[in-house]
Amino acid sequence: MLLRLLLLVLLATVPVHAANRMQQFLLGLPKPELHIHFEGTIEPGTVLEIARRNHLDHFPYGSVAEIQQRMGDAKDLPSFIRVYEELLSVIRTEDDFYEVAMRYFRRVRQQNVVYVEMFFDPQMHTARGIPYATVIAGLRRARQDAAATLGLRCEFILCFNRDRSAESALAHLEKALPDRDIIIGVGTDNPEDAGFPARFAPVFQRAAAAGFRLTSHCDVDIKGSGENIRDCLGLLQVERIDHGVNVLDDPALIARAREKHTGFTVAPALLYGPAPGAVNTFYFDRCARAAKAMLDAGLLVTLASDDPGIMCSQYVGEVYVATQARLDLSAAEMVAFARNGFAMAWLPAADKARYLALLDAYVQHFPSPESAAAP
Ligand SMILES: [Zn+2]
Repeated sequence: MLLRLLLLVLLATVPVHAANRMQQFLLGLPKPELHIHFEGTIEPGTVLEIARRNHLDHFPYGSVAEIQQRMGDAKDLPSFIRVYEELLSVIRTEDDFYEVAMRYFRRVRQQNVVYVEMFFDPQMHTARGIPYATVIAGLRRARQDAAATLGLRCEFILCFNRDRSAESALAHLEKALPDRDIIIGVGTDNPEDAGFPARFAPVFQRAAAAGFRLTSHCDVDIKGSGENIRDCLGLLQVERIDHGVNVLDDPALIARAREKHTGFTVAPALLYGPAPGAVNTFYFDRCARAAKAMLDAGLLVTLASDDPGIMCSQYVGEVYVATQARLDLSAAEMVAFARNGFAMAWLPAADKARYLALLDAYVQHFPSPESAAAP
């Protein structure tokens, strides 16, 4: 009965502006989001609003277009991270953290995201003088209100920055131990440096011993991608890889990941182009095609959005819609991405089964999304 009620609520929340049946199907599909960075959810408009509220008179941008232009000028991951940090500098108080997180939760609930595992990068905040306690207090309150007011469950993943020391990672892991009730795992992000992943092995061992689940970013088409994926599986003992599309370059690695049921969170993201208003689709195409190839290779792969607020605002529902449209994927393939996401989620078995039942009920109720007729 509860399932039926939930389903009716979900169907009622499908956006009425959906342009066609497949789009409506995908936006209403109960989805998990497993690769989303809290810091990457901040929209340019929110940055400006919070900068004004915090009286940051020297903040260098005055309009959304100026921020988007700056993002379009970022040519590689290090320059992207620099802009990222510039924009994040406006988030200072517990209320700021709360508000940015709540805006994200409200936005994705409209796309029927029912479960989120959200990365957050405490080092990016403590390095600029914001106490860890402020960060986690805002996130904790937002998590609670998302559950209470939106029916959206969120758990957090503490992400270590690979361009900072392993000592700093360990110190932040220790800070996070009292928050194990809402932080379920650890991961890594920022550029892969020469010592990665070996120098993080002791931190990951400590995290595993403390009961955290393990994942790591392995970025797309960088030098040594395959080796890093192999070492993350071996040295760091991760259960998931974020991105990790270069697994496809090595049949032995595909076989190993398939055997270990390694989960992959692939994020086809549109980037701002170099000209004002332009969009760069190269990275989106690369990742979307890889996600489809990974599905075909029998890998446990799901779709995700990564940093929608500071990229081109494609949240995970929109990523599903754009990926399906770009590659003309079947409804069954799209459902497989969502199903895989729940399967690789770090949830207790009973909760996982409940989400999968919700997904099955939705698909049964919406049997022919490929049809052109209105439902
Ligand atoms: Zn990411």
